[in-house]
Amino acid sequence: MGTARALDSDVESFLAAPLRRMLVDGRWVEAASGRTFETVNPATGEALARVAEGDAEDIDRAVRAARRAFDDGEWPRMAPRDRERILARVVELIERHAAALAQLETLDNGKAIAESASVDIPAAADTFRYYAGWVNKMSGETLPSAPDFFTFTLREPVGVCGQIIPWNFPLLMAAWKLAPALACGNTVVLKPAEQTPLSALRLGELLLEAGVPRGVVNIVPGFGPTAGAALVRHPLVDKVAFTGSTEVGKEIHRASADTLKRISLELGGKSPNIVFADADIDSAVRGALMGVFFNQGEVCCAGTRLLVESSLHDRFAEALAAAARGMKQGPGLDPETQIGPLVSAEQLERVTGYLELGLREGATPLAGGGRNLAAGLERGYFVQPTVFTGVRNDMRIAREEIFGPVVAVMPFRDEEDAVLQGNDTTYGLAAGVWTRDVSRAHRIARALRAGTVWVNCYNVFDVSAPFGGYKESGYGRELGRQCLDLYTQTKSVWLRV
Ligand code: NAP
Ligand code: MG
Repeated sequence: MGTARALDSDVESFLAAPLRRMLVDGRWVEAASGRTFETVNPATGEALARVAEGDAEDIDRAVRAARRAFDDGEWPRMAPRDRERILARVVELIERHAAALAQLETLDNGKAIAESASVDIPAAADTFRYYAGWVNKMSGETLPSAPDFFTFTLREPVGVCGQIIPWNFPLLMAAWKLAPALACGNTVVLKPAEQTPLSALRLGELLLEAGVPRGVVNIVPGFGPTAGAALVRHPLVDKVAFTGSTEVGKEIHRASADTLKRISLELGGKSPNIVFADADIDSAVRGALMGVFFNQGEVCCAGTRLLVESSLHDRFAEALAAAARGMKQGPGLDPETQIGPLVSAEQLERVTGYLELGLREGATPLAGGGRNLAAGLERGYFVQPTVFTGVRNDMRIAREEIFGPVVAVMPFRDEEDAVLQGNDTTYGLAAGVWTRDVSRAHRIARALRAGTVWVNCYNVFDVSAPFGGYKESGYGRELGRQCLDLYTQTKSVWLRV
């Protein structure tokens, strides 16, 4: 096993504190109940830090602080250039502390440091940079109403936003939520996932340092059924933005009905990645590999249903399996690691449960198939990158989101069959197509019911490109200009002239 580099002194001191408190109204406070919980290093199973455990009472305090900051505070009323300047300072601070943030993310989540350093942290900074740029570019319209009126629209923030995020990209998901909400002049209560609260708490410190006024961002770590549910039900919250499982998304949709909050949901996926025999095979193998094993497969848009044209199927599956066997699995802090541990013991159990289910359903593991118990990894939550063949699209391993390094390879006959199988899912988050035929690429991109379609690439992101689901993958679009619609509302003003 490679040797992990020494921890950054920022990270050491952050972890050395006896308790990481929550951020409420500009202060770092303990939970009202005094309760705490531990967050664990998934590479070793050892405790990493103790964190204040927020519940309904802490959420209430945080929401009231956000309400005051919105109703009476300076943030929504600030000159755009001043709000932009503060968000630009957030970018500078994330970049200045990038190495430490990457280590913290890897320790808490498990992901390879090569990925947290090159993807998660720079993309979080980019997200703040992009939305800082929107602050002084959002505007209303003058409307062609009758000549005795002057009619125009104001684009106003929605108000207090409750934001609930998952553990797979902890800092990046916090940035996707916070940056557009703040740029539009909203105030926020953010609940990070219980498995990975640390980078969001560190970001909270940076937000205060950047000059975000007290109460504008409140960060309450805690559990879904207590803290999360209280945030969704709170009558003083105007909007809830959620990323996570479809199951919890449906619960949030139902719970929000009583107060008719605005809701946006980024949920799960079972995305088809479709490879035609005329594709550039080498790059399709690499794309299929990273399309499903990037971030240990803990990615909502992972290409978990790999549909391969029948004539190419066996050769392609073999090549993918060989590449999967060649991936270097180890602790995330090892700079050579390509695939780290899963986030938690619970996720390990869930994913290995699906591996057993796959065998019972009659699938064949061409690569992987179980936990990785190699020397040094026994105590961590490592699962081998697994390639299943002999899968039919009606098996549970082809229908349910596994959220681990597991791909189901399935053959298709022709273009029509590829689209049919590709769309045969309750989800619709993303899809991939590999072909050299440009017309076919266009036809299939239109025919697939998914919020993102990648052609001859996979898992490519840019903050300018909207991202979100069709069908049970949710609604609302994050990133890009479209995300501003989630965090603003339009007021028409009529003036008799
Ligand atoms: P999850 O329960 O949906 O968690 C996402 C977030 O929602 C967490 O902050 C969670 O808090 C919170 N939450 C849970 N129940 C809630 C409730 N009733 N009201 C309000 N908030 C609530 O996901 P999970 O349990 O971590 O993972 C389960 C499965 O979800 C995974 O195996 C995967 O299939 C899927 N998942 C999808 C995504 C995605 O990006 N689409 C991300 C993560 C997981 P806690 O941290 O306390 O649970
Ligand atoms: Mg959960």
